[in-house]
Amino acid sequence: MPDIIALLPDSVANQIAAGEVIQRPASVVKELVENAIDAGATQISVIIKDAGRTLIQVIDNGKGMSETDARMSFERHATSKIKRAEDLFDIRTMGFRGEALASIAAVAEVVLRTKRQEDELGTEINIAASEVLGQTPVSCATGTNFMVKNLFYNIPVRRKFLKTDNYEFKLIVFELQKVALAFPHIQFELRNGNTEVLKLYTSPFRQRIIQLFGKNINQSLVDVNCETSIIKITGYITKPDVAKKSQPDQFFFVNNRYMRHPILHKAIIKAYEKILLPELQPSYFICFTIDPANIDVNIHPVKTEIKFFDEQAVWQILHATVKESLGKFSIVPSIDFEIDRSVEIPVLSRATDVNLPQIDIDATFDPFKPEQKKSVSVRADFSSHSRSLPNNWQDLYSGFENEPKTELRIPNFEPVENKGADDVQVSKQQQFLQVKNKYILTPSKSGLLLIDQRRAHLRILFEQYLENIEKSANAVQKEIFPQVVELSPADHELIMEYSAAINQAGFDIQDFGQNSVVVNGFPAALEQANPQKLVDDLLAELHHAPSQSGTSVKETIALALSKASAIPYGRALGSEEMSDLIDKLFACKNHNYCPEGKTILTIINIEELENKLK
Ligand code: ADP
Ligand code: MG
Repeated sequence: MPDIIALLPDSVANQIAAGEVIQRPASVVKELVENAIDAGATQISVIIKDAGRTLIQVIDNGKGMSETDARMSFERHATSKIKRAEDLFDIRTMGFRGEALASIAAVAEVVLRTKRQEDELGTEINIAASEVLGQTPVSCATGTNFMVKNLFYNIPVRRKFLKTDNYEFKLIVFELQKVALAFPHIQFELRNGNTEVLKLYTSPFRQRIIQLFGKNINQSLVDVNCETSIIKITGYITKPDVAKKSQPDQFFFVNNRYMRHPILHKAIIKAYEKILLPELQPSYFICFTIDPANIDVNIHPVKTEIKFFDEQAVWQILHATVKESLGKFSIVPSIDFEIDRSVEIPVLSRATDVNLPQIDIDATFDPFKPEQKKSVSVRADFSSHSRSLPNNWQDLYSGFENEPKTELRIPNFEPVENKGADDVQVSKQQQFLQVKNKYILTPSKSGLLLIDQRRAHLRILFEQYLENIEKSANAVQKEIFPQVVELSPADHELIMEYSAAINQAGFDIQDFGQNSVVVNGFPAALEQANPQKLVDDLLAELHHAPSQSGTSVKETIALALSKASAIPYGRALGSEEMSDLIDKLFACKNHNYCPEGKTILTIINIEELENKLK
């Protein structure tokens, strides 16, 4: 067998989504395990010590490498998986950028042992901080054995960013769950020190889910199955009765690659609408099979975001399939399939008209209209009018006196069409009671609505900040007398790393040399913010950022900013303010949970009230 690894020409290398591949031990695990899969391994063992700080070892029984390839594999843009730019649109392997091993070898001490079946002797290479320390023939098993020791030993700042062992190890387990689900025919083993954490035998997909998430999940799994000319969808969703409030197990795979896809996630959640309380989430394990020419995997450095060229059609098909599965298993007594019928005809193509998915977008919203533009900017004062779906929350009250009390056990906060002026008038007289300067209490159709004032405001601000950052809308900014804030080298690096997004959100923070920054302005919403405290708050959040993928950076910053500016507990609110706050809350995409996942509101229904006074 000839050598197979070659350097990508610059023209191809330049088209590769650049970014940091190795952020933490879990990223090393991901890259090495993916390489083992690409090498055709049927058994992969992962051995971890000290949450990956001292050792990450991945052993596979794949095809191994020749002596020359072993050496080549550590070069940047050296890969056996693609050769030309066209190949980027026909990716059938997990890797293709030839960057992972180079990146790992740059930040750790690596020992590679590898042997092909046809070779008598294998090759051992020792490399540390990108420097080859030695290469010798060894006798070893066919396959590849990577030992990555003392990760980030030469970049103390990075090492300092790592979180607790517990947290880092959890992320490693999550990485393994993802590949183990994507490749149920491969055997996996995970050891943490001397403890065996996972031992997964070859199994069908359903069995693999059970191996990973426990026997109990078995009876709640519902088959999802659909094949159309553009995509095949298989997998499982869970019955509504096992839906969870936090940390549901939700997995999407595209051609065996795990992906995050908030929009397709919505297609599933929408299918559960009306049968699930809005604060509950189903688990799902959905696999898409699609011609690689119809997706782009190369949009994200760690390849967890994938673009479907026909996203609307995929959305429709997924939504309809999930709905159908829920219906078929009589989980939903009566479902209205009217809208979805069209997608049962499996001949969609890019040119075909598809019903637009119902995504919550205010079609009348025009960011360029001056009076609306205000809404994209962040305002803390409650009197300004935001992009609210006017008054929909007030439907909660309308006519609650005549409502039979047994009805409406499930709070339904769906936007309903605007009520006439009379209704609005009636609900404007709605009574609000502030309890302990912390909660807002108000009658609703089915009982009493109880809202946490700070969490509600956190949610409102969070969505506004996020929108600003995402749209790069220049948030209203208040200039202040420039103030220099001194930081530790690590904090300085952290702030500078995120400075683009921070400034998009309305800050003006610039590098001031010698580990300090200068704050020239901040979002107008932050009335009396103290720059030092703001930067501290921001850093506290950034330190907790789970990863540096595009979305989470934006969310982290939006969260940090909202926490720094949300109304605190203990602040007395007037009726107008409370009304406005609730109005804006119900205009949010999610009014049930604050961005930190805590419950914002609850309904104490009439029955509960009656029971209390029995
Ligand atoms: P990529 O996976 O994007 O090609 P990597 O830096 O991860 O880039 O790996 C470089 C090359 O090294 C791969 O293309 C492959 O040929 C080879 N390689 C890496 N890991 C293994 C392995 N476990 N078994 C066999 N070959 C491997
Ligand atoms: Mg790779």
